[in-house]
Amino acid sequence: MRVVFVVLDGMPARHVGPEVTPRLWALAGEGARFAVGRSVMTSATYPNHATFSTGAGPAVHGLWANWVQTDGGPLSADRVGPAVATLFDACRAGGRSSGAVFGDNHLVGVMGAGAADECWPADGRVPEGVSRDAHDYIADREVVPRAVAAVERGFDLTVLHLNEPDTFAHVHGPDSDDARAGYRATDACFGEIVDAVDPADTVVLVVSDHDLEPVTPDAVDLYGPVAEHGLPLVPIPEGTAAMVWGDDPLGGAWLDGIDGIEGHREVAAGVRLVWGKAGRQFALPPGFPASTDKGQHGGMRTREQVAVVAGDAPAVDAIARTLASRTPAAEDWAVTIADLLELALPDATGRALLS
Ligand SMILES: [Zn+2]
Repeated sequence: MRVVFVVLDGMPARHVGPEVTPRLWALAGEGARFAVGRSVMTSATYPNHATFSTGAGPAVHGLWANWVQTDGGPLSADRVGPAVATLFDACRAGGRSSGAVFGDNHLVGVMGAGAADECWPADGRVPEGVSRDAHDYIADREVVPRAVAAVERGFDLTVLHLNEPDTFAHVHGPDSDDARAGYRATDACFGEIVDAVDPADTVVLVVSDHDLEPVTPDAVDLYGPVAEHGLPLVPIPEGTAAMVWGDDPLGGAWLDGIDGIEGHREVAAGVRLVWGKAGRQFALPPGFPASTDKGQHGGMRTREQVAVVAGDAPAVDAIARTLASRTPAAEDWAVTIADLLELALPDATGRALLS
């Protein structure tokens, strides 16, 4: 039994179908094998990828957003890494082989993939000459041959990531014709990778990490209000959400009057999640150029995740039945993979989809 886990970054579940994603749709087959899952918050890339590799949410792995506050100031999540053991650690401890190929090199650190037997880009560094997408991530075309080679190596666990749906949706808006054409191109890349998989002994799991929504340029600024109130807080924007770090003497009451905020709540001691109204993104720190993206994610409306299971193994039917009966949480995938490969993932909080 092997597992191939593929993340199509930012692929909106509502665009999965015979027209836009014919290869993924054909793989999913009958309806029960395609479902819509639910991301952790923030609905951003790194929190959800850390959850995919640990089976636990940000309260456990610590990566609440793409940037997190540390004693030394804000750091990119890949430089912090998940606080608990990952599937790659579990493979190593359990005598199973693992490999990973990423279209976003930061995911090596975010998912703890340095512990895999093989990982590309090695050490999270993109080799020179590798072509990039409009957001400077690795082009899907570059990922395909590396992903095919990893699948052909026959690792017990292979984790693969195609980045471009996220970039298309950011740049053009998630429901635009340009983005849909981009999703089609990624689906063709995905098809080339899946062609290398032997369905007889492999469970193929395909997910996305978050959805995207259209946004206006009218960003919600938290830095001004923090300064005006003299609060000892550090806001970190995450698209249509923000995390506010620090002990808040006002308990978040200063947020209540700000236009564009839909809600907020303390999610851990000294960590507050803030989310925007429809179409509203949060402003970057003073001095940073404003985002020109037409699509964003991070908040409450972009939590849908693609959830597809495929292959000929009996476990596939069991997972498909579960997908038909309950919404899979982001935490559930690593727990399911650990069960399939008979690995221990003691800090995971998800529920296996193998009932
Ligand atoms: Zn993403």
